[in-house]
This record gives sequence, C-alpha cells and structure tokens, in this order.
Amino acid sequence: MFDPAAQRPVDQAADVRITSGRIVEVGRGLVAPRIVDVKDMWIVPGLIDLHVHLREPGQEYKEDIETGTRAAAAGGFTTVCCMANTKPVNDQRAVTELIVRRAREVGLVRVRPIGAITQGLEGKALADIAEMKDAGIVAISDDGRPLMSSGLMRRALEYAKTFDLPLVQHAEDLDLAEGGAMNEGAVATRIGIKGQPACAESAMVARDLEIVEWTGARYHIAHVSTARTVALVRDAKRRGLPVTCEVTPHHLALTDEACSHYDTNTKMMPPLRTQADIDALLEGLADGTIDAIATDHAPHSPVEKDVEFECATPGLLGLETALPIILDFVRMGTLDDKRAIAALTGGPARTFGLPGGNLAVGAVADICVIDPERPMMLTADGIASKSKNTPFLGQQLAGRAVLTLLEGRAVYDLDGRFR
Ligand SMILES: [Zn+2]
Repeated sequence: MFDPAAQRPVDQAADVRITSGRIVEVGRGLVAPRIVDVKDMWIVPGLIDLHVHLREPGQEYKEDIETGTRAAAAGGFTTVCCMANTKPVNDQRAVTELIVRRAREVGLVRVRPIGAITQGLEGKALADIAEMKDAGIVAISDDGRPLMSSGLMRRALEYAKTFDLPLVQHAEDLDLAEGGAMNEGAVATRIGIKGQPACAESAMVARDLEIVEWTGARYHIAHVSTARTVALVRDAKRRGLPVTCEVTPHHLALTDEACSHYDTNTKMMPPLRTQADIDALLEGLADGTIDAIATDHAPHSPVEKDVEFECATPGLLGLETALPIILDFVRMGTLDDKRAIAALTGGPARTFGLPGGNLAVGAVADICVIDPERPMMLTADGIASKSKNTPFLGQQLAGRAVLTLLEGRAVYDLDGRFR
C-alpha cells in the first residue's frame, strides 16, 4: 500500500482492515471475516479530482451525474469536484442542492460542487457565494471562462477569503487568446489553424498573483499548461502566497503535434502545448509546485465535435484514462510513483481542504486498488461515460483501477471480487 499523505509516507506490503466503512487497522497478517486478495496490487487512497464537468443539470445528452460518477468510480476516483457551467449555472443554492441530492441518490462517489464566481458566468456581478457555501460548495470558479475583470477578481478574492473558499481561475487572457483554437507556434502555422500564445495563460496568472498578494486570498489555477505559469507559481509559493495549481493528464501526455490531423478531440482550452512545456510541468509535479493532477473531464457529443476543428467545442473525457496515462510516466521513470499518487489523492485533498486522500487508521475507507500493469484497450463500448470524445480511443493503455471502495463498499469492481 501507498499512503503518501502519512507523516512519513508509507510504502509497504500490508493488509488493510475495514469495519463499518472505516480503516481500523493496517499491518501484516490481519484477520477478518471476509478477505479480498489484492496481492501485487497497489492499495492507495481513493483518487480525488478537483475538476470535472458532469453536465447535469441541463446537458444530460452529454453526461449526467449517474454516468459521470460511474466513469469516476471506474477510474478509481472516490471524490470529484464538479464545475459550475451547467444549465442553469450553479450560481445559486437551488442548483447546488440539486447536484448534491442527485449525487447522493446515485451514491457512487462523493460529488463536491464548485459554485460560480459570477452570476450566469457572465463576469459581471458576483454570485450568491454565501448561500452556495451553505449548500455545500467547496470552491468558486467561472471555469470554461476566465474572470477577465481585474476589479472583479479583487472583489471575488476578498469574498472568497471571507468564506475560506479557494477561487479557481481558468487562466486565459481572452484579448491575447483572440479566439485561437490551438497553441500558437510552428504546428499551428503548418496546418493553418489560428493559434493562441502561451502568454495568454501566464499573463493572466501574473496579473492574478499581484491581486492575490494584495488580498491574501486562496487562489488555485486550473489546468496549468505552460512552462512560464509553472515558473510563476514556483516563485509565488517561494514568496509564501496561498497559491495552488493543477495539471491535467492530457497536457502531460500530448503536444500540439497531436492536432496535426485536425482531430477535434485534441482541441481543448488551454490548448496542447510543446515538449518544453511538458518538461516544465513534469518538473513542477516532481518538486511540488503543482499540487494536483485533475482531469478536466469534459464530455461532449458528436454535435459539438463532428465539425471543423475551429468550430468544435473544446474538451475531452478524462476520468477513465487519467490513471493509465499517469502510470505511463511512472513506467518510463519520468514521474516518481509516490509523487504521482500524492498528486491524485492527498495533494488535491489539501488543496480544497477536503476529507480523504489518506489511509490512516480511523480514516473513512475510500480506497482505490490499482493493477499497475493491467492492459486496457480503450473502446467506445468500454467507456462508462455517456460521451466518447477522447483522442485515446482505440489505444492500448496499461494500468488501471480494479477495485474502488467508497466507505468500504465496492462501487467499482473489475474482477468481480465483491460479486
Ligand atoms: Zn477551464
């Protein structure tokens, strides 16, 4: 088992005894009325995703809370935080309550809603953050859109601080981005697609960091994609600013070369960047500059994707491919195994102040069992998500969750051990 959250990270062959949904003992040769043999596999805390789009309410043709959380459980996740860009937008208590209630009815993984910063994600007036906090939001974000107004950013950060909520920024200066559909650079020029420069992200981050220093509020950067952003965050952390950030598996796995074939599943915001950016992201993960790996799971139907590259809606699935993609870096030796697991468990838990993310005695038994070598052919039929928009379709991946426990109860079981 791996418990990267323990005071001294635990990495040992061990039994984990679970009673009434909690971890009650960790050690060798434990006895229990029922034993599930997961020899040679990794027992890690249930994975925590700070960034998913579950599409309910309003866009159930893409995904709903049931299919989205089924995909989460299949990917080894026991907690997901869902963004506010639903229809209607989660900018008020009633929507937050609806999401919480639906997720509880489905009962597969913990769903923690993120509330909108501004009403209708319009970037004009602040949403009712107090009411939403009361109803269960764990952060605020206008994700999908950046908060462009610096004055509003200041007010939002002050407000977030009052409620001790992190503010999550989709860092993209729209003036610099100018509607570019991919990364600005040699590949965009070659294939004739309008690009957006890397500085559209880092310029926004640089501005925000000045406001964070002024307000002292918690600020989290979604889907960091450029080397410059990593450098800015590293410097900000060194100066003691309350800044955190996340990286997606796809920004680590793919460069803008992947867009060469105009596959709309390689269109995302921020766009895929360059190898130099990937190297910086991996370095940021290794030294703790990047706190979490988050999927930005963004289901879309053929209506949004079977169109020209420049017209396609950005985004791709993430929940079921995160582990195999990240384990690939572990196999290649470019990412330490314990660091990878920490960025999927304890790191995100700390970032949003969520429970879970550890295997301590007394902790709730949210657990993911990983077979690090298990082959996984990604097919449309095999995907639990309602949508199939992923550039990894048809690829042979390796390493996956084989068992996911929520409070000691199997919510996903590839090998039928609990059936
Ligand atoms: Zn975003």
